[in-house]
Parts: sequence; C-alpha cells; structure tokens
Amino acid sequence: MSTVDPVLSLIRPEILALTPYSSARKESSGGRVWLDANENPKTPSAFLSSVASAKEGPINFNRYPEPQPADLVSALADYYGADAANVLVTRGSDEGIDLLLRAFCRAGQDAILITPPTYGMYSVSAAIQNARVVSVPLLPAKSFAVDPAAVVAATTPEVKIVFLCSPNNPTGALLERAAVLQIAKSLLGRAVVVVDEAYLEFAGTPSLLTEFNQLPNLVVLRTLSKAFGLAGVRCGVTLASPALIGVLQKIIAPYPVPTPVLQAALAAISPAGLDAARASVEFLVAERKRVAAALAKLSAVRKVWPSDSNFLLFEVTDSAKVMATARAAGVVLRDRSRDYGLANHVRMTMGTTEENNAALEAIAHV
Ligand code: PMP
Repeated sequence: MSTVDPVLSLIRPEILALTPYSSARKESSGGRVWLDANENPKTPSAFLSSVASAKEGPINFNRYPEPQPADLVSALADYYGADAANVLVTRGSDEGIDLLLRAFCRAGQDAILITPPTYGMYSVSAAIQNARVVSVPLLPAKSFAVDPAAVVAATTPEVKIVFLCSPNNPTGALLERAAVLQIAKSLLGRAVVVVDEAYLEFAGTPSLLTEFNQLPNLVVLRTLSKAFGLAGVRCGVTLASPALIGVLQKIIAPYPVPTPVLQAALAAISPAGLDAARASVEFLVAERKRVAAALAKLSAVRKVWPSDSNFLLFEVTDSAKVMATARAAGVVLRDRSRDYGLANHVRMTMGTTEENNAALEAIAHV
C-alpha cells in the first residue's frame, strides 16, 4: 500500500520544500521584556482615545469595507507626500512585498535581487512564488553600504525586482541615497527598485519618494507598524506609479483593509496621532543613542553598529551566551548570527527606558 498522502502529493514541490519565514513571535515564547521584533513599545495613547471616541458613533461590521478606503488613502498620501493614485494600503508592508513578487516574477523563470544581510521576507516571498534570489551582499567593511555597480551588474534580464531596505534590517543604518538613485537610474526599463522604508521615521531623512517623477521604476514601502506603534493593526503602504498601483489592485484580496484597521489607521494619521507618533520617535531615537553608548561599555560587546532605526545591531563575544543570559532575566533579544556575515551579532529593539535598562543589566552580567 502506498504511503503517499492524497492531498500533499498534489502540492507544488517547491512549497513542500519551502522554509517559511521564522518570525520573532514564532521563535520565542514567554519572556517579560520583548525587544526582538522591532515593534514600538507602546501605541501612543492619542490613537487609542481617538478610536474609542470615534465621532461616527458605534461602528457597524455587517458591510464590507471600501476596498481602498478613500479617507485613509488620501490622509496617507498627504503624510507620505504623494498623490492618492500612488497609494495602495495593504495588510502590513509584508503583503506589499508578496504582491510585487506575484506581479513581476513568473514562477520558475524570473528572479529578484537582495542585498544580504537584509529583511528575510523578500526571499521567502520569492520562494513562495518560485522566483530565484540573486544576492549581492552589503559591504561590512564600509558599514554595510550597498555596492551600486555590483547590484547593476548582477541584474540580469531575469531579475525583475531589486529590494533595497533603507534603513536596513537587521544592520540598522540607511543606505546611501545617491547609491540607491544610481541603481534605480541604471535599471530604468530593466527592473523595479523597491526601497523598503519601514524604519525611515527614525532616520529623520526624506523618503526616496521625492524622486518618483524622475524614476518611475521606484517603489517605496512604508508601514504603520514601527513609528506609529501599530504592528498589531497590520497596515502597510505601497507607494508606486499610478500604473503599477493599478496592477497591484488587480491582484490584492478584495477587502484588505478591515473596518477596525481603518479606524485605528485614521486615528494614527490624524493631526493628534501624528504629534503622538513624532513624540514616540523622538523618545526612541534618544534611547537608541543612550543604549548604544551604554552597550559599547559592556565587556561582552565588541562593536555597536551605527543605527538610523528603532533597533541596534551589535557584535558580542558569544551570542548564544548573551541570548541565554538575557532570556534568564526575561529579556527577549534577536540572535542574528545566522544572517549573512553576522556571526555573533545580536539585535535589540528600543523599548521603554525600563525595558532597555533591563536588557543592559542582563548583558552586563555576561
Ligand atoms: N520591512 C522591514 C524591513 C521589516 O523589518 C518589517 C517588519 N519586521 C516589514 C517590512 C514588515 O512590516 P509590516 O508587515 O508590519 O508592515
């Protein structure tokens, strides 16, 4: 008798072989202080009170929401400095990554280019689509700068999307603007260049979006998960040419913005919400400076990389030991040692002052 599973035997072989994304929440359970997932430690209370006191009265859930709620699209376009026609609201920016793969990459034929060490979902979404991944590493000797000539040279005709993450996760720093622009300019007509700006608010520099008019092959990803403290809401934004937004609208699920998500996102992007987010970013940037200086003084820490985001990447003498010691104190950090070129590197998200102090104290005991 055959032991072949009658259902699994019908699944695409590459999906059966797929290594799924290992999210922070899958990797660790328990713990008291969560500094592993680059979340904001708090949702600013201004959003929460605004949602609670929504003027429209009790909301109704019986109707489907607008596929792309006009109020939200217009408020997001204003905030990001784009037109409404440039905006697609998605279930986190992770959905934007997935939609781009599905729109550009023919399964088994096309490819994407990534610059490791970088955010893991680009290659997972590529694997799901059965797209090949071309890697052009960032340059550790140049503080993980991108090598524009190498990226352009590696962009063969199969490569349809180049993913650049700026500020980059997990290294933390911005990519050089001129380098990103050089890549986009050289690849016009050959590939789209997706700049993932999930952490841009913490860098305090302008978005690459301002270059849209010259470079229609630029796509920018933003999110409410970081600066706005709304990771639980799942609201991301893809900014691209109106033509590309139109294509992505053809393949996105019918109602990707649930009504409760709409309410929370509108509150976040309201004038009071924006003020609260700015205050939160200011606090986290100050903590980043304080914690970086404190980490650099600890004997277990060899090097703290410069950061323009809400987290710090640092090299330690023994990452397993640092992780275990922190964990014993209830502090959850993220071991990035398996990432390209990051042996014995740990990533720490900026939390509240108390949370950061708990982490510092634990690492001091290593
Ligand atoms: N891009 C980067 C660089 C990230 O680090 C993350 C989250 N860790 C995401 C995108 C996805 O964010 P979200 O889906 O919550 O918008």
